[in-house]
Amino acid sequence: MNAQVDRKPEASGAEAQAATQILIVGGGPVGMVLAMNLAALDVRSVIVNSDPRPRWHPKGSTHNSRTMEHYRRLGIAAPIRRLGLPADYPTDVGYFTRFTGWELARLAMPSEREKNIAVRNAPATDQVPEPIFRCNQMYVERFLYAHLQGLAPVDCRFGWSCVDWRDQGDRVTAVIEDLSDGRRVELACAYLVGCDGGQSATRRKLGIRYSGEGPGGSAAYLDGPMVATHLRVPDFYAAVRAPRCWQYRAVNREVHSNTVALDGAAEFIFNTRLKSADEKPDSAHIVRRFLASAGAALDVDVIGHSTWIAGRALVAESFGAGRVLLAGDATHLFTPAGGFGMNTGIDDAANLGWKLAAMVQGWGGASLLQTYESERRPIALRNTGAARRLGVSVTEVPIGAAIEADSPEGFAARRETGAYLANFSPEFASLGVQLGARYDNSPIIAGDGTSPPRDDPDAYVPSACPGGRTPHLWLDDGVSLFDRLGPGFTLLDLSGGAAETRGLARAAAARGLPLTILALDRPEARDLYACDLVLVRPDQHVAWRGNRMPDDGAALLARVTGG
Ligand SMILES: Cc1cc2nc3c(=O)[nH]c(=O)nc-3n(C[C@H](O)[C@H](O)[C@H](O)COP(=O)(O)OP(=O)(O)OC[C@H]3O[C@@H](n4cnc5c(N)ncnc54)[C@H](O)[C@@H]3O)c2cc1C
Repeated sequence: MNAQVDRKPEASGAEAQAATQILIVGGGPVGMVLAMNLAALDVRSVIVNSDPRPRWHPKGSTHNSRTMEHYRRLGIAAPIRRLGLPADYPTDVGYFTRFTGWELARLAMPSEREKNIAVRNAPATDQVPEPIFRCNQMYVERFLYAHLQGLAPVDCRFGWSCVDWRDQGDRVTAVIEDLSDGRRVELACAYLVGCDGGQSATRRKLGIRYSGEGPGGSAAYLDGPMVATHLRVPDFYAAVRAPRCWQYRAVNREVHSNTVALDGAAEFIFNTRLKSADEKPDSAHIVRRFLASAGAALDVDVIGHSTWIAGRALVAESFGAGRVLLAGDATHLFTPAGGFGMNTGIDDAANLGWKLAAMVQGWGGASLLQTYESERRPIALRNTGAARRLGVSVTEVPIGAAIEADSPEGFAARRETGAYLANFSPEFASLGVQLGARYDNSPIIAGDGTSPPRDDPDAYVPSACPGGRTPHLWLDDGVSLFDRLGPGFTLLDLSGGAAETRGLARAAAARGLPLTILALDRPEARDLYACDLVLVRPDQHVAWRGNRMPDDGAALLARVTGG
């Protein structure tokens, strides 16, 4: 399984090219972040994406705290936080009959500047060093694409498609095509990862199906075929006088829609329901629905449309076979309530990246790659389920007949709808979903017999019980414990110098496993972790903890890397 492939691929008529270590098919956010995780461990990859440009159409706007922690680990969180909305733009969600009509409810949420101040003033053991970030995927993906160009181990080929591949047992051979001129190149790689989205040809060629639940299809919003329309509305903020929102939701008997601010100036993404999956987006009709949502006559430019399906909770029956693996939407499809889809995919990439590095560099054991599916599939089921539960509540909003009337009946109807909507804050928080993923039953987690905290979608309880995200600690002004962890495994020594860590360092060197030893003489760290020694994986999950070094360090390292 540890093949470092450099042999010549078999003849196929396509031009042959030097081998790479990993071929990533799909340059959406998950494929690009996988390439970065691999590059952080010096693994070479080729990433192909059939579209010649990074994403040009807006999509999701929530980068959750865990994704931002991964971006921090990769050194890109700070510049990403400067993208999208202005720093002082609030991230409130406002519910209106029409944007110029009655305000029904408002979920107040902070601007980037306010979040930054809160982080600076947080106590040392605060668990959210990277608050949730609202910014459209389109801007972030353009940044990721530009960043990839500067990473030497990444050969980034946008405008190229993977047209075929074959798992040869000891390597994968694949044919990629330059879509600008039809030139085909055959290359060999140790592993191929399909990050090719919901229509994944890689998944279909493997014969892997999604299972789970589809949309009910009967509700007026977020239940079945939808269209996301990119709009430019220069006079929006002059006409809509309510305090600024990140999301403007229209809730009335005529239209139920969601308008998300993109740049805080004139650009928006407008999500509304289509009658059927076959309906082609009709710009004139969609503009009428937008104007009905706004309740005002506005000049509107339509930049583009993209259709999508709401209400799904689908997970692939398997996350790959042999040397071909899947990640991101290729393995799970969400309804966007909660904004969990891409974020779950970014976490897949963090889990898979170090395991692939371990395999091609020879420090991963025979069963390591199987743990990608056994660790991540339960998280996909957990997160798609959480999104679907949130989504159902969104579709069931009570909308009384008098909701827009300036009368006692209207007041009562608005009060009823407003009270219902005011309970929606979990859709925009869900810290337990974001930070609480755990791998307790994984064979590469060395449990210590303690019980993990209860899995609660809304709350995250820090715990160094092996299997969970390593608890966070601020060390110095603006320096997080996460900034000091190594790119490979890290042994946290909280013993105040009492532990003898050289044995584990020797075992790691003998295995070729990258290990950083980080000694911290801080009582709050010892209290937070409730032990003297902690072995943290490259994806920042706790693999093992104890109060003394294990007698056989090599056996521990074999256990946490799959044999
Ligand atoms: C309206 C909406 C709102 C959303 N909001 C959020 C949100 O707030 N937060 C969140 O986390 N998620 C959100 N999501 C989900 C999120 O957009 C997806 O989960 C995410 O884009 C998946 O990323 P990916 O890289 O797996 O796949 P994709 O983004 O689909 O990228 C796949 C890429 O593969 C390429 N490709 C396909 N086949 C080939 C091939 N043969 N060769 C080469 N390239 C190929 C495609 O061109 C594409 O660029 C939302 C989705 C929608 C529709």
